[in-house]
Amino acid sequence: MSNRVESLVELLPGAGVDVLAVTSLVNVRYLTGYSGSNGLALVGSDTRTFMTDFRYLEQAAEEVDDSFARVTVEAPRDLLDLVEDALGAGELRVGFEAEHLSVGQHERFRESLPSRVELVGCHGLVEGLRAVKGPEEVERIKAATALADASFERLLREGIVGRTEREVARALETYMGSIGAERASFDTIVAAAAHSALPHAQPRDVVITPGDLVVIDWGALLDGYCSDCTRMVAVGDPGAEASEIYELVLEAQLAGVQAVAAGRGCVNVDQVARDVIEAGGHGGEFGHGLGHGVGLDVHEAPRLSQRAGDEQLVAGNVVTVEPGVYLPGRFGVRIEDLVVVTGDGCEILTSVPKRLMVVD
Ligand code: ZN
Ligand code: ZN
Repeated sequence: MSNRVESLVELLPGAGVDVLAVTSLVNVRYLTGYSGSNGLALVGSDTRTFMTDFRYLEQAAEEVDDSFARVTVEAPRDLLDLVEDALGAGELRVGFEAEHLSVGQHERFRESLPSRVELVGCHGLVEGLRAVKGPEEVERIKAATALADASFERLLREGIVGRTEREVARALETYMGSIGAERASFDTIVAAAAHSALPHAQPRDVVITPGDLVVIDWGALLDGYCSDCTRMVAVGDPGAEASEIYELVLEAQLAGVQAVAAGRGCVNVDQVARDVIEAGGHGGEFGHGLGHGVGLDVHEAPRLSQRAGDEQLVAGNVVTVEPGVYLPGRFGVRIEDLVVVTGDGCEILTSVPKRLMVVD
């Protein structure tokens, strides 16, 4: 934890601030260890203050890194109101996390501070640190992935035919919970037939029947860390066209994984997979980026996308590689693995086979 805080302190001058008020609970957890639902951290070169209310007194005592001074208030309240008391004297530039503060919160924060304090909006400081995982974080993501993989294998053994999309999604989440997941890392997607053409489909009360091609996108949250994976299951022979598109998406996925390495541009990795799908005549039907970072959040930095600018992958990034082809009104195919970037390539964390799984 303290290495993380030191790395953050090094970024503060570049962001033009003396102290950062960390309000994103995920960022607070990353920096302090605290996993409760009301907490704020102040970090500066001489400032390490953690704030919460009485409900979390014991949890904070157990979890919060010892380098932080702890302030606990007696009633649940907006912790931003307490920031002034924790700041030193004199003129100060205090950063806030612009992506995590509402306009209303910002106004009240401003009003609670004296005029000697200048408020400065900061962007992605902690998120940038979080994008590069340490070995113990990679281990946690691996464990979450293994748990999700095992739950999917159980689902296949117990069968999906004759169950509704919603029942299958619930079953998968129940299996994950039964072997230790805190919960699913996001709302499980189970989408059959034409519904699979929606990349973010919500499970329906529709029974899965022979002839359906089913997309299943699921993940486990374990020890605070997420996993993310997508597989396709065909109920009986999916037909020539679906099989062809499956092979095309698989080829793109393998090419994308092959392209992942430290020093590689995020736009470039996306392009490698996109080229395969374009060459197969389906470029217009791959409407999202190739992948995203995964960690404490299921969607975090970096992203593999045409909009990633000049960002490059570095060793320790954990990203998904998930090309898809979506034919509206008919079906969609997506295949997603989770990988950790290494010096000369990547290690695939997902262990579920990638051939099209055909069940009866
Ligand atoms: Zn996914
Ligand atoms: Zn994903």
